[in-house]
Amino acid sequence: MVSRVIPVDDFDLVVFGATGDLAQRKILPALFRRFVAGQIPESARIIGAARTEQDDAAFRDEARRAISEHGRVPQDDPRLARFLELLAYTAVDAKGDGGWADLKARMREGAVHAFYFSVAPALFGDIAERLASHGIADRDSRIVVEKPFGRDLQTARDLNDMLARHFGEQQIYRIDHYLGKETVQNLMAVRFANILFEPLWNSQYVDHVQITVAETVGVAGRGSYYDKSGAIRDMVQNHMMQLLCLIAMEPPYHFDPNAVRDEKLKVIRALQPVEPDDIVRGQYQGDGKSTGYAEDAENPATRTESYVAMKVCISNWRWQGTPFYLRTGKKLRARTSEIAVVFREPPHSIFDDTGAPKANELVIRLQPNEGMNLKVMIKEPGPGGMRLVQVPLDMSFADALGQDGSDMPDAYERLIMDVIRGNQTLFMRGDEVEAAWAWTDPIIAAWEDSKRRPEPYDAGSSGPEEALRLMHRDNRRWREIRP
Ligand code: NAP
Repeated sequence: MVSRVIPVDDFDLVVFGATGDLAQRKILPALFRRFVAGQIPESARIIGAARTEQDDAAFRDEARRAISEHGRVPQDDPRLARFLELLAYTAVDAKGDGGWADLKARMREGAVHAFYFSVAPALFGDIAERLASHGIADRDSRIVVEKPFGRDLQTARDLNDMLARHFGEQQIYRIDHYLGKETVQNLMAVRFANILFEPLWNSQYVDHVQITVAETVGVAGRGSYYDKSGAIRDMVQNHMMQLLCLIAMEPPYHFDPNAVRDEKLKVIRALQPVEPDDIVRGQYQGDGKSTGYAEDAENPATRTESYVAMKVCISNWRWQGTPFYLRTGKKLRARTSEIAVVFREPPHSIFDDTGAPKANELVIRLQPNEGMNLKVMIKEPGPGGMRLVQVPLDMSFADALGQDGSDMPDAYERLIMDVIRGNQTLFMRGDEVEAAWAWTDPIIAAWEDSKRRPEPYDAGSSGPEEALRLMHRDNRRWREIRP
C-alpha cells in the first residue's frame, strides 16, 4: 500500500537555532525527507537563523553534511542538491536587534510563515518579542516551540503568558514528538474507527493499563542538564501523560484539534494525586564497566531519579477501579516503548482440567517495530483433548502496510507538515501543559521534602526491585522489558 502524499502550501519556515543539535539531527533531515516524498513545493523557503555569522552557501554546506549523516543519504545525491536550494541563512541574535531587518526582507508575501524555536526556552520570549516588534510575524504566522515547556506550573504559566503577548493560542504549536509517532495516532484510529474495542474500554473489562518507556542509554554527556530534570519532568509530565490521555480519553465529537485536546484535558484533570507508596524512584548504579548515574550527573549527592514507576488512578466514571501503571527509565535492559491494555479474566472457565484462560492483552508498540499485538486464547492444535494456549495476533504496521520501516515518516516530518497545514491536533494546548504540571508539581514537591534516596538498580536490568513490589502488592506483574 503506497501512502498518498498531499503537498502542503508554499511556505517560509524560519528555523531559529539552525546551527544546533536538534535542527541538524532532526529538523533538517525531516524536511529533506518530506521534500523527497514530494510534499514540500520547490518554491518553499527554509531560512536558518542563529548568531553564527555565515552566508547561505556555508549554511547549505553544513546542512548537506548533517542531512547526509543523520538522513543516511550520500552527500552527492542529486535530490539533496535540489533540496539545499530551498535553504538560506540569516544571522540574528535573539537578544539583540541585528539581523532582524534582513530576516524580514527574506519573508515572502502570500506564503505560509512558520517560525521554529529550536533554541533554549530562555530565548522563546526574546524571539517572540522581536518577531512582533520588527513586524515579521502577523496574525496568520505560526510558531513552534520545543520541550521542555517549563519545569513546573509557574514557569509553564510564565512561558504561556509571554508567548500570548504576541501570538494567539491558535498560532502556537507546542511540540511533543511522541504525538507525531505513527502508533500514537493509530491509537486514536484503533479506538475510534473500530466498534470492537470501545464496549470493552472501561473498568468493567480492563483490569489495568501499563505504559512503559525504557531506554538503554544513560545520561552521560548531558548528565548535568538531566540532573536538574529527572524522569518525572523529562518523560512523565509530557510524553507519558500524552499516551495516558489518548488511552483514557472519551471519544471526541470530531477529529478536530480542540475537540481532541478538550478530551485529553478532562483526563488530566481527573487524575488523582499520587500517594507516596504508589511511586518508586530509581538510579542506575555503576558496575566497574560502566559509570553510575551519580557519576554521569557529576553530582555524588544527587537524588534525581533516572527511573520512575508509579500507579496512577483516574477519577471518572469510565476508569474508577482500573489503575494505570507508568514506568520509564535509563540504562534498562532494552529500548522499548509500549502500552499494554490488560483485560480482566473471563468470569468463569468451562475448561476445568486444561488450564484456565489467561487475560487478553492488547499491546501497542511505539518502538521498535511499531505495531499492535492482541493476545488471545485458542485451542492448542493437535489431538489429545482441549488444551488452551495463548497466542499473539501480531501486526507490524510496516509489514501490514507494505512499507519497510524507512518509508514511515518520522515524528518530526509529520509534525512540521502539520504546522504548515495549520493542524494543531498533535500539539499540546497551553491549558493541557499547565494541567499536567499542576498534577506533577505536588509529586515532585513531596519528593523534594522527603529525605529519601532513589532505589539503586543495575544497568541492564528492568529497574529497582521495589518497582516489582508496586505491582506484586496489587497481585499484578509488569510485562517483561524486551526489545
Ligand atoms: P543547541 O545544540 O545548544 O543549539 C542551540 C541553538 O541556538 C544553536 O543553533 C545556537 O546557535 C542558537 N542560539 C543560542 N543563543 C542564541 C541567541 N542568543 N540568538 C539566536 N540563536 C541562538 O540546542 P539543541 O539541542 O538543538 O536544542 C534546541 C531546543 O530543542 C532546546 O529547547 C532543547 O530543549 C530542545 N530539544 C532538543 C532535543 C535534542 O535532541 N537536541 C530534543 C528535544 C528538545 P549560535 O550559537 O550560532 O547562536
